[in-house]
Amino acid sequence: MMQKLKIAIQKSGRLSDGSLNLIRQCGIKIPRMKGALKAEASNFPLEFLFLRDDDIPGYVQDGVADLGIVGANEAVEKDKNVDTIHHLGFSKCRLSIAIPKEQEYNGIQDLDGKSIATSYPKILGDFLTEKGVKCDIHEISGSVEIAPNIGLADAICDLVSTGSTLMQNNLKEVESIFKSEALLIATPGLSEEKKEIIDQLMFRINALQTADNNKYILLNAPKENLDTILNLLPGMRSPSILPLADESFVSVHTVIAEDDFWSKIEELKAAGAEGILVVPIEKMIL
Ligand code: AMP
Repeated sequence: MMQKLKIAIQKSGRLSDGSLNLIRQCGIKIPRMKGALKAEASNFPLEFLFLRDDDIPGYVQDGVADLGIVGANEAVEKDKNVDTIHHLGFSKCRLSIAIPKEQEYNGIQDLDGKSIATSYPKILGDFLTEKGVKCDIHEISGSVEIAPNIGLADAICDLVSTGSTLMQNNLKEVESIFKSEALLIATPGLSEEKKEIIDQLMFRINALQTADNNKYILLNAPKENLDTILNLLPGMRSPSILPLADESFVSVHTVIAEDDFWSKIEELKAAGAEGILVVPIEKMIL
């Protein structure tokens, strides 16, 4: 019988939509029944376990699941023996220390001797030790932002993305201590057969991520400036050049890194490029 890989993903919460989207964009079909804790892909050797995200590193370490999608914050905090296979680029957030808005803050030494409430005692503890600051860490499992308002702690250390939850709770961010994003983690020492399935999955994930970082660009270039324009557009191997009805122009089609596009647009226009179209790419295989 063909081996299947078991992948643990968050049952519900901020990671689950991103995880399911990634799997679906890889062309893998998940016939998920509402409330089911397990499912099998119909067109790929993958079985899904829907779990709490903070349990995922432990289950992956123990081999209950071969793979897991989990935030770097949980992977590092739980400190389990797992391999990080890939940074997935979604659920980006940071772990930050915040204090009541009205309090003055001149630097990390202001936290010395203070109490900090957090669900991330290991990451926070390591950071404070590195900085040579001693604090009393109160571990709590949720609603951390309320701690200073109810006198439980002087400060908090929690995940932040926009900062709006901190603002609503009259807190201000004073130290960003850890950057997080979704990771693909694996049980160390998987069989060759399972590693081959991971390679197939990674091939698809890489095609999506490369496509995300690049755009397909089409433009009309005056023949007299074609060399200048082509130098600005190195492309994958070499751009396609198509004739146009107006023989003084050609149409240039190529791929450009999204970041490069904005820095080159003025130079392209200065070289006479016209009718510039920039189109998203769904999948890209180099
Ligand atoms: P939750 O569903 O709130 O338990 O969050 C699950 C995971 O999503 C966390 O462990 C983080 O990796 C990530 N996450 C949490 N908060 C945010 C946020 N504000 N923005 C983006 N990702 C987040």
